[in-house]
Amino acid sequence: MDGHNTEPEPMETEGSNQHREDNINAVEQEMQHKKNVKPNKEKQRENTMTSGNLFITAFMGLLQDTSKEVACHYMERVLHSIFFFGHINNPPITPDDFLPEGYIQKVKGRFPKPFKEYNTHLPHYTPYSILLEYMTERMELENLDLLLKKLETVNKSLLKPKINNEDQFIANDFAFTASAVTYCCVKDSNDAKVLKKAFGSSMSCKGKTQRIIMIAISALHVWDRAISYAVCCAGSSLPITFPERVSCTTYSFKTRAKIPPCNKCFKMYNVNCDPEHEAHNRKEDWLYGNCAENESLSRLLHGDEDVRGEICIIGSNGQKLMNRQDIVNKFKEEYEEKMKKKVKELITPFKFKLSKDQWDFFIPEQSL
Ligand SMILES: [Zn+2]
Repeated sequence: MDGHNTEPEPMETEGSNQHREDNINAVEQEMQHKKNVKPNKEKQRENTMTSGNLFITAFMGLLQDTSKEVACHYMERVLHSIFFFGHINNPPITPDDFLPEGYIQKVKGRFPKPFKEYNTHLPHYTPYSILLEYMTERMELENLDLLLKKLETVNKSLLKPKINNEDQFIANDFAFTASAVTYCCVKDSNDAKVLKKAFGSSMSCKGKTQRIIMIAISALHVWDRAISYAVCCAGSSLPITFPERVSCTTYSFKTRAKIPPCNKCFKMYNVNCDPEHEAHNRKEDWLYGNCAENESLSRLLHGDEDVRGEICIIGSNGQKLMNRQDIVNKFKEEYEEKMKKKVKELITPFKFKLSKDQWDFFIPEQSL
């Protein structure tokens, strides 16, 4: 887990001897704690480094079959995103650390921009989201099953070869792989023909702080603002209702099966899901905004003006409480500034040069 959240609580005691003893205990505990945390942090740093390295290699392999322009465009974005997450890792990982020694100059010469802007410009997406965008928009994969099969193969190529049990990666250890993808679509009400579709991946970056930063960046600059509103409300608002013709399916790479929406997503979105939500008491300790549903539904809203105009929040007695514009306005009024402040606070300790007025986002040299 993230080292930021593992500091021991200060101890409060009564009586001086007892107090001193407890202080010694506290110091011992602190030392033990440091001993435990340090190797974990170092191990986590190494995992992230290897993960980035494998991701770059795997993505280069995927880009073999496309045009030079498309390959450059996507590679620049992936490199920048990986370097950005390396920079905001604790302890940091430099761009050179992610590359095999013999390749550094070659990659730098070919893609100079990500090397210059990883600590000044923000990414719009995690590396896995960029990979998913490439696969769904640029590779001709006829159906969902084919896409999932291809993604499984890609995920396998991202796993470190098994050397021994200790070094073996498990899904959770891998810094840049998504645990789930969501497919959502709009179907024709008469013949159920798919009219629009969109994909999204779960937040694929390691570390709680890094996830909070990326969720906030997505809410402020990437997602449709209705999705941002739902995420910011964190279950305290009524769900956003989508038209009946919209449906959503999430596939988990961990269980290798379709999964119902979690309790958080169920509270945020009233949308047809396959499989449907099931009530349960299992612990769901991920953050609001972490699930693949958010990115997928946001992409659908970006791509379908009609659906975008129809989403709303409905009261318990069936009356419409908020239309899309009300939802967007509410996000701006209540959450936008708070989110900006949160990103600034969290990213400053990583020596990220975030300009005051307007944040810079990475734009690849090779446009499409
Ligand atoms: Zn969820």
